[in-house]
Amino acid sequence: MNYKEIPKVELHCHLEACFRPETVMEVGRSLGLDVPQDPHEFRRNWLLTQPLENLQVALQRFVDIQRIWCSEEIIERMTYEACEYAADQGIRIMEFRYSPDFIASEKPHLTFQKIHDAILRGVSRASEFNVAIGLIGIVQKTLSLADAERTIDFIIENVDTFVAVDFADQQTHHFASYKSMVDKARKAGLFVTIHAGEEPLPNASDEVRAAIEVLGAKRIGHGIHIIDDECVMSLVRQNNIALEVCPTSNWLTNSVPSTGQHPIRRLIEAGVAVTINSDDPGLFGIDLCHEYELLHNQHGFTMADFERCNDIAVAQSFLPEDIKKNAWSGGVSAGQ
Ligand SMILES: [Zn+2]
Repeated sequence: MNYKEIPKVELHCHLEACFRPETVMEVGRSLGLDVPQDPHEFRRNWLLTQPLENLQVALQRFVDIQRIWCSEEIIERMTYEACEYAADQGIRIMEFRYSPDFIASEKPHLTFQKIHDAILRGVSRASEFNVAIGLIGIVQKTLSLADAERTIDFIIENVDTFVAVDFADQQTHHFASYKSMVDKARKAGLFVTIHAGEEPLPNASDEVRAAIEVLGAKRIGHGIHIIDDECVMSLVRQNNIALEVCPTSNWLTNSVPSTGQHPIRRLIEAGVAVTINSDDPGLFGIDLCHEYELLHNQHGFTMADFERCNDIAVAQSFLPEDIKKNAWSGGVSAGQ
């Protein structure tokens, strides 16, 4: 199977972690950062290619990447290259998500608006690649509620160039604490997707239930651990909620013991709407085609399975209907 030739939709890809190693090496060098210039050493010390041994290592990797996204010029360039990557992967509709707080952290010269405008310039410059691009604004669950509100307000102010909000990272507040902010975002016309049910915790499916019932999520980032809860699976089915499934990511974060033991096939068999995504391709040293190959080799995915997952992803994409339709038929001018 030629995976690149399959027309694809990707709904769950973190822009900050969608990068070319060569660019990070080059930018790091120009910034005077201690970035390995040997590709193998870079892969060993800057990427996450084996299941996490501890959180500290993982956090350091993210901090390293955070330091790279440090100027408007670099942000624009890396966004442009991420769009080029999407085109190369055969992706026709791509929803990138990013966290303004993550990029802005410890960079007083970068406001949220400057970051967003630089990303928009990168997307606009990449229109030559004919990929419809949507942007999702992330609120980190680790933020104080006041900071979370500030970020939501920023996303709402830019409602014309964001399609949705997402909540990511380690949960520190109950989802109910975000209800009024999310209601405000929804009223402004934004969709909601939420990272939930990713880790194999006893309350994994309760998280998914709350994301849907309390915050009105239309899609769930990961959500794979509903597999053990028939009630929540039924809720997901009845509300036509799509799961944004990222097999390699789930293995690397120890959410599943191996990619071969991933519940993706069982979720599909249970009638859950599943889409195929890469999460953090640059950071994991993978690409979306790698996930397709893995699903073919380890879970027997056929072309019909891929087509079905992509049809679901087209329907579940938060981009406007006309843009989706054009892009999916191969006609396209880029979205936003
Ligand atoms: Zn994610």
